[in-house]
Amino acid sequence: MDILEVKKLWSDVKVELRDTIPAHAFYSWVDALEAVGFEDNVFSLLTVHMMAPQIVRNSYYSQMCNAFEKVIGKKIDFTIDYDAALAEKYKKEKKKESMRPRSLQQDDAPESSKTMDNLAQMQSFSNLNLKYKFENFVVGENNRFAHAVAYTVAQNPAKKYNPLFIYGASGLGKTHLMQAIGHYIIFNKPKLKVRYIKTEEYVNELIKNLQHGGERNARMDKFRQKYRNIDVLLIDDIQFLESKTYTMEEIFHTFDSLYNNNKQIVITSDRLPKDIPTLPDRLRTRFEMGLIVDITPPDFETRVAILKNLAEQRALNIGFDALEYIANNYVSNVRELEGAFIKVCAYADIEKVQPTLDFVKKVLNCEHNKKELTIESVAKAVGDYYGVSVADFLSSSRSQKVSSARHVAVYLARELTEKSFEAIAEFFKKKHTTMLYSYEKIRDELKINKDMERAVEDIRNSLKG
Ligand code: ADP
Ligand code: MG
Repeated sequence: MDILEVKKLWSDVKVELRDTIPAHAFYSWVDALEAVGFEDNVFSLLTVHMMAPQIVRNSYYSQMCNAFEKVIGKKIDFTIDYDAALAEKYKKEKKKESMRPRSLQQDDAPESSKTMDNLAQMQSFSNLNLKYKFENFVVGENNRFAHAVAYTVAQNPAKKYNPLFIYGASGLGKTHLMQAIGHYIIFNKPKLKVRYIKTEEYVNELIKNLQHGGERNARMDKFRQKYRNIDVLLIDDIQFLESKTYTMEEIFHTFDSLYNNNKQIVITSDRLPKDIPTLPDRLRTRFEMGLIVDITPPDFETRVAILKNLAEQRALNIGFDALEYIANNYVSNVRELEGAFIKVCAYADIEKVQPTLDFVKKVLNCEHNKKELTIESVAKAVGDYYGVSVADFLSSSRSQKVSSARHVAVYLARELTEKSFEAIAEFFKKKHTTMLYSYEKIRDELKINKDMERAVEDIRNSLKG
């Protein structure tokens, strides 16, 4: 068979394999295989990685056979040979490539070295954490819509929902979901340049580059290029955007430049754009231009599913009652839920026991006693109880539901933390006198209203664990 036909067959087979072999294995071992012949029902492949023949045969034999069968229409066998000469050539290519400027590497590198572009390098360029993937993101009612939209954006960057704005309280999976988008894109569309940035780091980097002295203009040009010369920009925790004019100006131009060039932008925040007090209108309207989705605290079922997922990842043998106990005690923050689980694992490891319900109770109770309550954790617990988000508390909403829950949150924040009314006012972004009013209102109501007494008691208990 003509070699071009062989290569075309192999590229079709790879399309099949991309969906059946885990992405990391696909890009490490399969993608770079070279098709060299197809004779007597045997497809011949070459590799420049010494380990590849063994790994692919041992772990992905059936997937390979199925993909060949699907594309060629009959059962065939295949061989993979390690080619030392090709390996030598490949090494030379890589070396040449690494000496070229990055911009050239992307556009006119030969196809073979482009596909062999190593993943580690892409990851360090994009600043992503390998841990956060769609595969290990547990979907529940609290994040179903956000997850679906994020997945759509990952599959069609800059085609739909641009910018995508994800908001929700701390520890609910915003960063995870955002990085999963980036991860998906660098695995499935390796030609696209992805960059993840925490807003605080962006601001610090900007300030550093703005300092006088040295080649300030050249430095600023480089800084701008870094964030404008990409296809997907992921900006985490935008609420940390400082109210300095220059920062706003810079992010505004970066946004416009990317948006006008049809590049995808994803933003996360702990609140809605309209509730970020220092955000100028022209930035706010831009953030609101695409789609805004929220993530709320997970319900019990989802919390248990998250714990089960963690236990599976670690191959930890833990009873359902123990998982239920953890899920019942960490209700409003997945980071804390995970933290509790990890603590249990660590103790079980040290004491070399299987974590039973009693064991978990012992470990987490002692943790709870040490834990100091914060205004935020109190506000979250009150929010969960009334079905109101912390973002709602911080907003200017005067709806009956939000204001009465907010009164309770203020009362309990004052009762259960060591914080002053000033600190509480700052957290809720309200006036000091308003806080005082809320506190006194609930204190007086507790004397006469049994329902209120019960509600406050329930919330206190939920905070005790
Ligand atoms: P946020 O950015 O909203 O503060 P993160 O994305 O950092 O929250 O999530 C906190 C931790 O909880 C991370 O370790 C993350 O992997 C985990 N997590 C959050 N939501 C989920 C989920 N739905 N499934 C699995 N893990 C989750
Ligand atoms: Mg985050």
